[in-house]
Amino acid sequence: MAGGGNAIRGSRVGAGPMGEAERGEAAPRQSITYFCSNQHRTLIAFAVEATVPETWDCPRCGLPASFDSDNPPPAPKIEPYKTHLAYVKERRSDKEAEDILDEAIKTLRDRRKAGDIVF
Ligand SMILES: [Zn+2]
Repeated sequence: MAGGGNAIRGSRVGAGPMGEAERGEAAPRQSITYFCSNQHRTLIAFAVEATVPETWDCPRCGLPASFDSDNPPPAPKIEPYKTHLAYVKERRSDKEAEDILDEAIKTLRDRRKAGDIVF
């Protein structure tokens, strides 16, 4: 019963072309440079009407790469896998604690009610 956790979804970058569209081509293109954390630069050409993904797997090392050369996405090793798991765990125990508390309060109330009736 995993509650619908909200996936971390990057906000979409506005559709501003970051590279120059090459002239004289039938389909206008935009060239996007992606940077990975190994400082590889990857130039990918997209059709201007295409949705440019925020991240691209670096063809050289396979790490995720992004537009921002100063702030490339972290290597998968550092991905918040553990954090997410911890979060889920925390949430679940929180929920459990809540349920237990709820149950306890209910039992207390029932007992009190029962007591009222008996006496
Ligand atoms: Zn790379």
